[in-house]
Amino acid sequence: MASNVLTAGAEAAEAANPYETAQRQFDQAAAILDLDPGLRQVLREVRREFTVNFPVRMDDGSIRVFTGYRVQHNLTRGPAKGGIRYHPQVSLDEVKALSMWMTWKCAVTNLPYGGAKGGVICDPTQLSLQELENLTRRYASEISLLIGPESDIPAPDVNTNQQTMAWIMDTISMEKGYSVPATVTGKPLSIGGSQGRPAATGRGVMVVTLEACRRMGLDPSQATVAIQGFGNVGSVSAELLHGQGFKVVAVSDVFGGIHNPDGLDVPALLEHQRTTGKVRGFAGAREEISNSALLELPVHILIPAALENQFTMHNAARVQAKLVVEAANGPTTPEADDIFHQRGVVVVPDILANAGGVTVSYFEWVQDLQSFFWEESEINQRLTRIMEQAYHQVDDLAQQHRTTLRMGAYCLAVKRVADATAVRGIYP
Ligand code: GLU
Repeated sequence: MASNVLTAGAEAAEAANPYETAQRQFDQAAAILDLDPGLRQVLREVRREFTVNFPVRMDDGSIRVFTGYRVQHNLTRGPAKGGIRYHPQVSLDEVKALSMWMTWKCAVTNLPYGGAKGGVICDPTQLSLQELENLTRRYASEISLLIGPESDIPAPDVNTNQQTMAWIMDTISMEKGYSVPATVTGKPLSIGGSQGRPAATGRGVMVVTLEACRRMGLDPSQATVAIQGFGNVGSVSAELLHGQGFKVVAVSDVFGGIHNPDGLDVPALLEHQRTTGKVRGFAGAREEISNSALLELPVHILIPAALENQFTMHNAARVQAKLVVEAANGPTTPEADDIFHQRGVVVVPDILANAGGVTVSYFEWVQDLQSFFWEESEINQRLTRIMEQAYHQVDDLAQQHRTTLRMGAYCLAVKRVADATAVRGIYP
């Protein structure tokens, strides 16, 4: 599965601080829920933030020091859970935001987890496979103080994949002296991975997109879709939505985008991307477009599947789609959210839309702990049920509070975590 493809978006550089965005979203939900002031203070901060500076031996024999993070926002409802990303723009505030979003994501789907996230500041396209392995193993060893099946369980995220998880699992297992498969999820099948995990985030995106269309009276066979980002999540979403009859008219990756208003032949595009490493140059494209132009196309559905801060106060008013499904984490700033709300653009928020990945991660962890493995059909059925139920609960709460789906999702999630915190009480 392609994992080294993402949209960097130059426009993201000057954008909002994701942690401030996450805290503003939380504050808004806390106000709607009239949350106790003490609980507000607890939940709007991360519990632990861990920075590691570690040496890696490069292919030319030199040593380079890299900086990485592992942040745990919350552990109240179970072990912390969340991916690890490799990217030059990783920052502590980004990882803190992503860890908080993981807490809410796991609570929206009612998984018995808290939230965490990790990241290493690096450009994986500039590292050899050997250097990536060295970096991954040393980072895993550095954060082994925190991670483990009962405490904190990493998974893939931007620019990390099954191989990365295999190295982490091996490093932790070698340090223990025995295999600990449940220490990470998103592993290869041969070492305790789960059927359906690589496609799970995209599958969840498909399920919520179908649900949203049903509620909006949008017929999939008449609906056009543009997808920003063609890594694991974007490409699987494209494939599955195409399979459901949606017309995917534009896609993009870090090198730029392609557009064909008559629809792209997604299976052929996937083949092109597999062989050339990019979407540009695909014979079935009518024109090449930029990542930012893709977001303003006249389509019914927009799926950001790359990085944060893609919709801001600068471009939200120009978005023509009626439905935005956030496959990426944090693609919409609070200002853009307000503009979408005023304009009647429906946003299926990240903490619901992309929760399919962590849901099947949970299935993987359960299977590893029991050493008993399920068939793919069972995985997909259970995933669909959880995503549909979460969508309904979020939608009900949004209607009840006359608010957005994002605030509906936050109300569901924050209340679950707040109730758990209140009943456990404050230690000591
Ligand atoms: N990195 C994915 C996310 O942002 C998956 C996390 C997981 O499976 O733990 O949801």
